[in-house]
Amino acid sequence: MTSHINLKAFVLDISSYGQKGRILRLLTEKRGLITAVLRNQKDDCKACTQPFTFAEFQLFDYRQRLTVDEADIIEQFSPLYEDFTRLSAANFVRSIFVDTMAPDQSDASLYKLWAYSIHEITTGKDSLLAAEVAIMRLLAIIGYDPWLGNCVVCEKDIVSDYVFDFALSGTLCNDCAVRPAERRRMTLLPGTMATLHYVCSSELNKLFKFRIKDNVRSEFLTFVKLYIEEKLEKSYKGLDFISQLADFENKNKWSDNLSGGA
Ligand SMILES: [Zn+2]
Repeated sequence: MTSHINLKAFVLDISSYGQKGRILRLLTEKRGLITAVLRNQKDDCKACTQPFTFAEFQLFDYRQRLTVDEADIIEQFSPLYEDFTRLSAANFVRSIFVDTMAPDQSDASLYKLWAYSIHEITTGKDSLLAAEVAIMRLLAIIGYDPWLGNCVVCEKDIVSDYVFDFALSGTLCNDCAVRPAERRRMTLLPGTMATLHYVCSSELNKLFKFRIKDNVRSEFLTFVKLYIEEKLEKSYKGLDFISQLADFENKNKWSDNLSGGA
């Protein structure tokens, strides 16, 4: 059976195929993450061999093997390539999407999440925070939603002192928190709890529309880093690298302001 398919997709990953070809991993709305081969890099298809590109693809389906016939570029997110922190943040989120999405996982919310996330990382004020918000929501969608309402062990309401247990993926009441921890725990500020609630449950088109205090931002970033390591059982060095870049940029902003005011 052969057929032609037209669909819009984001290019999430690219690898070599033979001498001139490429294998593209495309994030689509209805089919999830699909793989398509680009045999010859014709001029009108070359731009789609750049990660993040959003394009309308014409694919040829032969026995469920897809090849790219044509690609019309819609958006290339070029500002990413002019800002190393944004590019690193986008690459980090991209790698986690590719690592965690199952080939047959056709959840339209993941496509929407990626679309809003890449837009925010490209144009927003805080690309590091945007990257971690995107990953936290991704983890919630694929089944790692943290338990934040009451105690994850006894279901008692929690009034204050939010102790989060990473092995149990939830908050503990004071009684359960005194028992020995199997693994890591972290006491969270009420603001961090509220941020986590929001990030895991808000409508996707409002996901990045919230204000955050500096101390809550810092704790939220630490929490997500630990949560990623716990749930994906992998340490992502990219996150430390982006944090260092963001710190470096912030320090430069401060010194610019100081020298500007002198
Ligand atoms: Zn309890």
